[in-house]
Amino acid sequence: MPAEKKRNLVEPGRAAEIPSVDRLLNARAFQPLLTQHGRTQVVAELRTHLDSLRHAALAGGPGPTALAADVIAAAVAAKLAQAARLTLRPVFNLTGTVLHTNLGRALLPDEAVRAVAQALTAPVNLEFDLQSGRRGERDGVIEKLLCELTGAEAAMVVNNNAAAVLLMLSVLANRREVLVSRGELIEIGGSFRLPDIMRRAGAKLVEVGTTNRTHLSDYAQALSPRSALLMKVHTSNYAISGFTKSVTLAELVELGRARGVTVAVDLGSGSLVDLTRWQLPREPTVRETVAAGADLVTFSGDKLLGGPQAGLLVGRGELIRKLRKDPLKRALRVSKLTLAALEAVLALYRAPEFLADRLTTLRLLVRSPAQMQAQAARLRPRLQGALGEAYQVADAPMFSQIGSGALPIDQLPSYGLAIRALKGKRGSLERLDAALRALPRPVISRMAEKTLWLDLRCLEACDEAAFDTQLGELRP
Ligand SMILES: *Cc1c(COP(=O)(O)O)cnc(C)c1O
Repeated sequence: MPAEKKRNLVEPGRAAEIPSVDRLLNARAFQPLLTQHGRTQVVAELRTHLDSLRHAALAGGPGPTALAADVIAAAVAAKLAQAARLTLRPVFNLTGTVLHTNLGRALLPDEAVRAVAQALTAPVNLEFDLQSGRRGERDGVIEKLLCELTGAEAAMVVNNNAAAVLLMLSVLANRREVLVSRGELIEIGGSFRLPDIMRRAGAKLVEVGTTNRTHLSDYAQALSPRSALLMKVHTSNYAISGFTKSVTLAELVELGRARGVTVAVDLGSGSLVDLTRWQLPREPTVRETVAAGADLVTFSGDKLLGGPQAGLLVGRGELIRKLRKDPLKRALRVSKLTLAALEAVLALYRAPEFLADRLTTLRLLVRSPAQMQAQAARLRPRLQGALGEAYQVADAPMFSQIGSGALPIDQLPSYGLAIRALKGKRGSLERLDAALRALPRPVISRMAEKTLWLDLRCLEACDEAAFDTQLGELRP
């Protein structure tokens, strides 16, 4: 071995030969790293790396380690790249749940992405009236559109639907009573529990009726001078069936009008269009809820509506104005990014005939099983090839869910890949699941019935190549 090369190896007791930080930083191999990551980061990673080389040398070493500047630079570069990778990363949602809260719910259409990018990089007339040149109303950006799309008198927006309900209860029912049917006392995703929000808002919950049956007379008897709200909550993540009775919104509105008590509805998902138009399960629309006489309606922006995280409130002008004036509204207000995205998404609803094309959430919900079946047939041999003989991959029909509490019992026929582990050949679904999550763009699947299900509903054609390409890196 030439003398030059030999000096680049650490041998036991030769830690002194490890090059200095200064010398390495001047080496040509380090210049691109300094330009990309900056001196502080490079020096920190380099020190750590040199320390580990020193330890290896003193301990007799796990064999000789190259000390050439370019070898050290490559090791440091890999560490820097890893540290620079963002924690929040895109994944493939193959869980079959379209609006998956843990994976960020609705995906936004390009129109919204462009609007957000614009609002991020240029000043915008967020609270500025271009006509008068005076201060404007933040929610003005979306109020006109929301009123047009729902038939409501007025509208506003806060951070999410939980915030909308909190604001409504705090402002309209503090130290007063709110009547809710026992069949509608919901918990959503463990963190939104109506009784808890009620307490936080300083409102007193008055439970009406029983879990399975509530009559109008139950509400009528519970009303008192302390009653502030008659509230209806859309039981979005469960269904009560069998011997049941609930009061319709129209009946509740009649009672509210007669006794002078405001009627509020938490719609949860709150669709702006009738989904049966696309053969999807029926979900009450905001417009029909307003038309039925609700004084206030709250719903989420990132569920069926297909927009950004937001809580929308629509209803009577005088009530919305009261909510808007409250200091809590200031604390719950949304950013210009949310407003920009929301306006662009709402604008799509003005042409409902194109919605199934343009609104990402709806496009995923209406994908044809035949399309997904063809996709499964293409991907099955690719995945089988990547997994080898320890696993058996089949294309299979399955069922997707809308998710986020919308239409909990309705399932959408879908298609995808079903993987079983062949125990005799040392296959393990847990290991495979972990390997899928370790891919450059992690794949999130669903495990049930000793099978790993990859539902292809949310793998649109434009993403298929990226999914396919990284299969080569799968190491189960
Ligand atoms: C989802 C949901 C909420 C909470 O909405 P977020 O936008 O997630 O805060 C509240 N009420 C109902 C009925 C819901 O379905």
